[in-house]
Amino acid sequence: MPSPTPHLMQTYARQPVSFVRGQGARLWDDQGNEYLDAIAGVAVTNLGHAHPEIAAAIAEQAGLLLHTSNMFGISWQQHLGERLCALSGMERAFFCNSGAEANETALKLARLHAHRLGAAQPQVLVMENSFHGRTFATLAATGNPAVHRGFEPLMPGFLRVPYNDIDAVHAAAADTPGIVAVLVEPVQGEGGVRVASHDYLRGLRGLCNEHGWLFMVDEVQTGMGRTGAWFGFEHASVMPDVITLAKGLGNGFPIGACLARGEAAELFTPGHHGSTFGGNPLASRVGCSVLDIMDRDHIPLNAALMGKRLLADLQQRLAGHPNIVAIRGHGLMVGIELDRPCNELVGHALQRERLLITVTRDRTIRLLPPLVCDAAQIDEISVRIDRLLKTDKP
Ligand SMILES: *Cc1c(COP(=O)(O)O)cnc(C)c1O
Repeated sequence: MPSPTPHLMQTYARQPVSFVRGQGARLWDDQGNEYLDAIAGVAVTNLGHAHPEIAAAIAEQAGLLLHTSNMFGISWQQHLGERLCALSGMERAFFCNSGAEANETALKLARLHAHRLGAAQPQVLVMENSFHGRTFATLAATGNPAVHRGFEPLMPGFLRVPYNDIDAVHAAAADTPGIVAVLVEPVQGEGGVRVASHDYLRGLRGLCNEHGWLFMVDEVQTGMGRTGAWFGFEHASVMPDVITLAKGLGNGFPIGACLARGEAAELFTPGHHGSTFGGNPLASRVGCSVLDIMDRDHIPLNAALMGKRLLADLQQRLAGHPNIVAIRGHGLMVGIELDRPCNELVGHALQRERLLITVTRDRTIRLLPPLVCDAAQIDEISVRIDRLLKTDKP
């Protein structure tokens, strides 16, 4: 039975569980039951729930100053921008409050770039199966008909090609005038945990150089250590022109960022873009605190090691399971694709295994454990998944 939510818009099919407390990778519901969290609020609480240093930073900053305005200097924002640029190779940051807003920012940069190029009908190249958000521009960029349905007419200016297919991009470049940018995820999370090949990302970079397109990488889910590096693009040794971040950047505090370098970093001038809340002292300080902890505790490295362990463990335990089509992943982004829709597993995992999982694209179990998981917790996740799939075998 779903939780009664008569005064909430019906945007989510909610599980009948409410959590009241968390610690690290553990959660407790209002009945006192303990759970293991293998989704981290969809790649958000990467450092675990109730991290004491983040809680302390929030409390201290709340007692000093929450908000002023971007009309004034905000030293924590400048500090966070500087650190993110140093980590990513970008030059300037714009702060906002979500992944969709970060991508809106990138798409606005693409439009300014288009006008510089004199493109009358600018097109941003986007991928099948992609996910970029729920606002009008980002839902149009998203390659999932279920996200579009009911909201047509879609915003024009997006050209869609298959993911991981560089020939399709070459063909688009030859056939379509007006392409000004590429927007791509290093791993498609919502799209079923599909990993871009290094050659593909390098190929995109090459085409962007050749044609003067902006290479824009959506790191909202893959960024902040999730794939075992600070950013997903690093594995391919390519340098984007624009990257977008959100989810893990605030460990649950809402913050997003669009980072850019080169020409893209200089496109905005006062009046082009803005955000009331974006990068306020509290949000920026939390972002700095997240970076401090990630850096000191070698979180991306832990994600790489634990991700390898989880993938190998699942592949071994689930070998020969008749309904499994593929087990794939990168760092602590892992997908188990089944040969049938399996959305009911989310509820079964909660009730029977006290394990939080998600199912994406109807057939793929997606695991996004906190990046602070230790080996024992990783093993516990695969034991519970194995038991879940054995019991649920049709
Ligand atoms: C979650 C996600 C978004 C949207 O982020 P919101 O904060 O929900 O707006 C955009 N892109 C990717 C790749 C995501 O995973």
